Amino acid sequence: MRKLTSGGGWQAIKYTFTKGRQAGGIWKLWKAMRSKNACKTCALGMGGQSGGMVNEVGSFPEVCKKSLQAMVADMQGAIQPEFWKTYSVAQLAKFTPYQMEHSGRLVQPMLYERGAGNYRPIEWEEAFRRIADKLKSLPADDTFWYFSGRSSNEAGFLLQLFARIYGTNNVNNCSYYCHQASGVGLASTIGSGTATLVLEDVEHADLVFLIGGNPASNHPRLMSSLKHIRRRGGEVIVINPVIETGLVNFRVPSDPISLLFGTKIATQYVQPHIGGDLALLKGIAKQIDEMGAADLQFLAEHCDDSETWLAHLRELTWDEILTKSGVSREQINDIAARYAKAKNVVFSWTMGITHHAHGVDNVQAIAALAAMRGMIGRPHAGLMPIRGHSNVQGIGSVGVTPQLKRAIFERLESNFKLQLPTSVGLDTLACMEAAHRGELKLGFCLGGNLYGSNPEQKFAGEALEQLEMMVFLSTTLNTGHGNGLAKETLILPVLARDEEPQPTTQESMFNYVRLSDGGPRRLQGPLSEVEVIARIASDTLGDAGAMDWKSMQDTGKIRDAIAQVVPGFEQIETIDQTKQEFQIAGRTFHTPIFPTPTGKVQLFTHEIPPLKGGENQLRLMTVRSEGQFNTVVYEEEDIYRGIDRRDVILIHPDDCRRLGLAQDQKVEIHSDVGLIRGFLVREYEDIRPGNALMYYPEANVLVARRADPKSKTPAFKGVVIDVRPLGSDSSAAAVV
Ligand code: SF4
Repeated sequence: MRKLTSGGGWQAIKYTFTKGRQAGGIWKLWKAMRSKNACKTCALGMGGQSGGMVNEVGSFPEVCKKSLQAMVADMQGAIQPEFWKTYSVAQLAKFTPYQMEHSGRLVQPMLYERGAGNYRPIEWEEAFRRIADKLKSLPADDTFWYFSGRSSNEAGFLLQLFARIYGTNNVNNCSYYCHQASGVGLASTIGSGTATLVLEDVEHADLVFLIGGNPASNHPRLMSSLKHIRRRGGEVIVINPVIETGLVNFRVPSDPISLLFGTKIATQYVQPHIGGDLALLKGIAKQIDEMGAADLQFLAEHCDDSETWLAHLRELTWDEILTKSGVSREQINDIAARYAKAKNVVFSWTMGITHHAHGVDNVQAIAALAAMRGMIGRPHAGLMPIRGHSNVQGIGSVGVTPQLKRAIFERLESNFKLQLPTSVGLDTLACMEAAHRGELKLGFCLGGNLYGSNPEQKFAGEALEQLEMMVFLSTTLNTGHGNGLAKETLILPVLARDEEPQPTTQESMFNYVRLSDGGPRRLQGPLSEVEVIARIASDTLGDAGAMDWKSMQDTGKIRDAIAQVVPGFEQIETIDQTKQEFQIAGRTFHTPIFPTPTGKVQLFTHEIPPLKGGENQLRLMTVRSEGQFNTVVYEEEDIYRGIDRRDVILIHPDDCRRLGLAQDQKVEIHSDVGLIRGFLVREYEDIRPGNALMYYPEANVLVARRADPKSKTPAFKGVVIDVRPLGSDSSAAAVV
């Protein structure tokens, strides 16, 4: 299939009509998209009380394929009873992510008991009884509680509170496999773990660094803001080992001029090696210093230890920087020159930065580079991690982390007369490892695909199979419902955000809290997440103790509690009456005063890790396709990259020649932890030679559990692989 020459455009409009047909008509889809609910997909944030397709600066219509895909998936019909009789769990284990997602909506609690061939339907009462009985029989620390960013603040807060009162801190969320390094890196440098700016700041910047990400595919409406910047004469510097079509040229469908003629996005496109960002960031900083372009006054007044940091830059050799980054001195000089002349600069990044064993170091280096020219703590400039799921930031804010923030812990204990556990609690990877050792007995997943998002999937499957019980609260099926099944696995069907009977709230990556009205249920059977959680809590702990759990089925009551204990969330108490969505206080930095112990930016020095891999190896990064969101695959083809299937490895033609590989050749791909056999080679000019691309989650089998020690995020990027022609005796595709 042919690669597109621009992102967005007419194909996106045509796709909208196709999706409209799938949803039962364009008008029906339009009404669903315009409802007063926060967009269900990415954390850029859209919708809420302004109605769908409106962003935080009021721009309309901001419609994107990702939001349509999620909406249409929720508008599917119900999975029919025959489905469960037809497909055994052994067959479900072979379903692709696409097939699972497109099987329909879950409408009845389903139970799988090891030894039975299939899931079977059970009544809600039986499901509640089984879960409560099991929880009552276990020590609390034998359980873990995993949350995806799909859920509301209310459901997230309620479930983590239940888990802690039940007695465990084994509470974590999906950000441990994506942006945890951003939170840890930012908190260590500026004392706050989220974006320092608001969307309006981005629109007024005159230079945006876009590092290690592809928002044209994954956060499509950010492209509107980049278009504004380019129209005003601003610049966008893209740093990515792969040239992504939509970051070169994007046709914003709602803008006739952009739609017709396209908008050039990248003013400079830089392709470091995978894992070369830290060296590149230091190189830019070193060049800024050598040019005399550093803001020495800002460094002296608003940063600690700036002398040490500058000395560190001066000690680094250009030889080391150029070798480890893979970027030429001329290009680094060019980037630094553009940075030096810009007035308002935004640094944004995604998982190309965080998915490394030195992910926190990367984030700290970005913050230091910004501080070097005083680009934090002022309007129209700052730091912007581009977060993933629509409420991943919100669930972290309301307490879904192993350790509660001190203020939340203390207020929960004093306001509600609680005694909460003080154990360290397990992060996501630590839970998987404890489960593999047989130390955990029950897992509870509020959304997400824990199995699918894990590195070393063989290990992940084995770990989850050790559990005595797994409980999923899900809207549709995913590969985690067919693989790594616990002895007793329950799937509880829940309502989507825009079907909730009561209002809920979500937080965007700009720290903006939206109110979602909910709406009429599309199907009979699923229940509200808070109803399910409150019922399980009530059945397990009773209502006579510290909490009257039954009353917590009221999302207003949960918001009262959030307002009391979560700093910055005071306005949430009355949000369903006032309809006043709000910016969380204390997180946007328009003046250079930071919540660190000294009120100043902390600057860190780092060893730059060597580039990985030998002469005949490649560095692999796992990526999402155009038709995908996290582990959910909506379309098998990747139209932006011109790739028609997912069982492929994308390699530069020079590397193909070097390694004796040819287009469409079947290969086996080895890493130090896994093997994939039978995938096809696709020659791909746009990847930096020496590096390769495969789709996530299919390639996760090759990714080791080695994690960044500071953020506990596994290194999904920079995996060293050997690619060899497949022997003629083993033609079947396999993962080992
Ligand atoms: S960019 Fe993100 S928040 Fe905006 S419509 Fe698309 S998926 Fe939703």
